[in-house]
This record gives sequence, structure tokens and C-alpha cells, in this order.
Amino acid sequence: MTPPRSARLHAPFAVREAVVQVCHALSARRLIAGQDGNVSVRIDSDRLLVTPAGFSKALLDADDLVEVSMTGEQLSGRHRASSELALHLSAYAARPDIGAVVHAHPVTATAFTLVGEAVPDGVLAELMLTVGTVAVAPYVQPGTAELGRAVSPFFATHDVVLLAHHGAVALGRTLQEAHFAMESLEHGALMIHLARQLGSVVTLDSAACDALRAARRGARHDAAHGSRSQGDME
Ligand SMILES: [Zn+2]
Repeated sequence: MTPPRSARLHAPFAVREAVVQVCHALSARRLIAGQDGNVSVRIDSDRLLVTPAGFSKALLDADDLVEVSMTGEQLSGRHRASSELALHLSAYAARPDIGAVVHAHPVTATAFTLVGEAVPDGVLAELMLTVGTVAVAPYVQPGTAELGRAVSPFFATHDVVLLAHHGAVALGRTLQEAHFAMESLEHGALMIHLARQLGSVVTLDSAACDALRAARRGARHDAAHGSRSQGDME
């Protein structure tokens, strides 16, 4: 039986709490500052739960979150949806397989883009396994519909995209996966940055890189076919 519209317009409290916890963790790990960053999660085939515009994510409560349709129409919530809603919508449109999007401003990873670099691929095994190759989308002004359009092609082929001179976006099948990808991106970028202070960074040989990429593809294939890890939230 279809629930009444008023019930359908309210995401389960546990989902709201999970988004709030990710927001607080992003702040605690200094992946965002001030009113930076935004998080969304797919509630069902035509609705998202997204953080509101203009809030410190460190102070967010479950009832501050906003529900929007997949075309961006606000369905419920007392605040306006994130100014980066177009970025989130473009990710879900490009990737029907994903269930969550995390946008943050990770310091070290974003710093690579300020000098015209990507976070190097082929040097850190865990980064290759958990995040994959990191794309860099060219600069577009934050908070514009154009940003969503510009990043969309990168979402089709990458789970984590750096936004030049701005920040990063992580996509996940679950909220936890997107959150952990953002943390791992910054952790890996910091490690590579520190390694460069010690000497020249050595790239893994092609056989090792191929094996890591194959392992990532295999893990994602397994997850897509029903053997998800125990840690997944959804
Ligand atoms: Zn941003």
C-alpha cells in the first residue's frame, strides 16, 4: 500500500542521523571549514536528502536537512537546499549506481589543483584500491548550475573528482562509501605531499598497478552482485 504523501516526504530518522554524523565527521577531520561542504543521500528512485545552504555542517541537526526531487524541486524542509544541489543532481544523473554524494574542501588534495596537478595515481596502494584514479575537473564558479554540467562527464568514469581551485566530490554506493572515499583522498594526498618533502616519489611498476586496478574492479563487481561488505550502511 502506498503511504500517504506526508509520510513519503519524510526520510527515516536513521538516514537523517547518518547524514548529520557524516557532516560532523567531515568537520572534525577538517575536511570542511565554516559553511563549506554538502552531503546528499538517495532516499528512493525520485528523492534525495541534502544538507541546507548556509549552515555550518558541524552544528547541523537531523531536522535541518532538506528533501528534494531528482529534478531539484524542494519537497520538504524548513531551509533552502545546498547551493551545490546542481552538482549533486548531476552526479546522480550520471551514475544510477550511486546512493550518496559528499562534497568537501580537503586541504591537501585541493592544494594539488592549485599548482595544476592531480593527486598522483600509481603510488599509494590503498588510494588505488579505495578511491581509484582521481580526476580533476577544470575550474567553474562554485554554486552554479554550470559546475554540475562541467563535472558530469568526470562522474561517468570516476568515483572521486577534484574541482580545480575549489574542493572535491566523492560518490558512493552508500553514504559510508562516499564519506570514506573523501577521507581516504585527503589521507593519501597528505602522504604523497609529505613523501615529496623526503625525496622523489617512486611510482609502482605497471604490473603492481594493473593488479591493484583489477582488485578494485573485482571488489566493485562483487559488491554490485550482492556480496557487499558488512560495514556498508544501507
Ligand atoms: Zn565547495
